[in-house]
Amino acid sequence: DRHVQRGGIAFYEEEMGEKATARLTLEMNLRKGLALNEFTLYYQPKIEASTGKLKGFEGLMRWIHPKQGLIPPLDFIPLAESTGVIIALEEWALEAACRQLKTWHDAGRMYQLALNLSARHFLSDGVVEKLAHIVKEMGVCPNYLTFEITESVGMENQQHVIERFVAFREQGFSISIDDFGTGFSAFVYLKHYPIHEIKIDRQFIQVTDNDPTGNVIVQSIIELARGLGLKTVCEGIETTDQRDTLRSLGCDEMQGYLFSRPLPIDELETWIDDYDT
Ligand code: C2E
Ligand code: CA
Ligand code: CA
Ligand code: CA
Repeated sequence: DRHVQRGGIAFYEEEMGEKATARLTLEMNLRKGLALNEFTLYYQPKIEASTGKLKGFEGLMRWIHPKQGLIPPLDFIPLAESTGVIIALEEWALEAACRQLKTWHDAGRMYQLALNLSARHFLSDGVVEKLAHIVKEMGVCPNYLTFEITESVGMENQQHVIERFVAFREQGFSISIDDFGTGFSAFVYLKHYPIHEIKIDRQFIQVTDNDPTGNVIVQSIIELARGLGLKTVCEGIETTDQRDTLRSLGCDEMQGYLFSRPLPIDELETWIDDYDT
């Protein structure tokens, strides 16, 4: 008995050791990748629902690994968050996004840009001053930038979170609640938090084709948001039916594969040329 148990523990420890090592390796590679400039932003268009006009983009991170090729965010963001590397990554993303935005703005193309901000980064000390400083250095007006955060932020101390929202707003940034409706504190945001926009999760958008009651939820969210003076963005639009339904329900902006997947900048410029003419 004792023997088996000891064997079990040894095996368990060895497995934990391997996991911890893999974690450490990935964390090291993340930092190295950042230093070696292996990260890039893809951009997905955001379309004004009522007019079809191109309003701007969401910047989404990609890791182009020299050996593994393109690594999607879900394969590195969680670890980047738990280790804190996400802060450096998102600062880099803001710089890259601002550089691109400046190029567009200098050419008279006044696009908006949205970036994802992890809860950990949002709640970190001095984040507002730091991000405002980056934007100022890059010569971009904060009014064109939105930070998308997820509802998990709301699990924190409310007063602290509210003060953060206010600080972002005072700098001229907008705040959007991403994946709206998937967390369990959704309505707390609407009641107490000074935000600008909600981004309705695609699970509510993509039921519209085959589930007649599915629309009821989206419709209610849109009406509620409008009553509170919040902008609504619908993501994950893949079909013309979904587009038409959401337009008639009064959503403000739309995003999804129907318009375009997230694209690297050169492909995006081609897409813009085709879309705008
Ligand atoms: P998200 O912020 O909810 O971004 C939307 C995701 O849905 C993107 O996946 C996008 O490619 C995908 N998507 C867009 N339109 C459609 C559609 O019509 N149908 C379907 N099925 N999917 C669509 P992606 O680029 O793989 O990003 C996944 C997640 O990674 C993002 O979800 C976001 O949570 C996270 N992420 C990406 N960049 C960053 C970042 O800089 N910081 C943080 N904290 N998270 C990031
Ligand atoms: Ca997002
Ligand atoms: Ca989302
Ligand atoms: Ca998401």
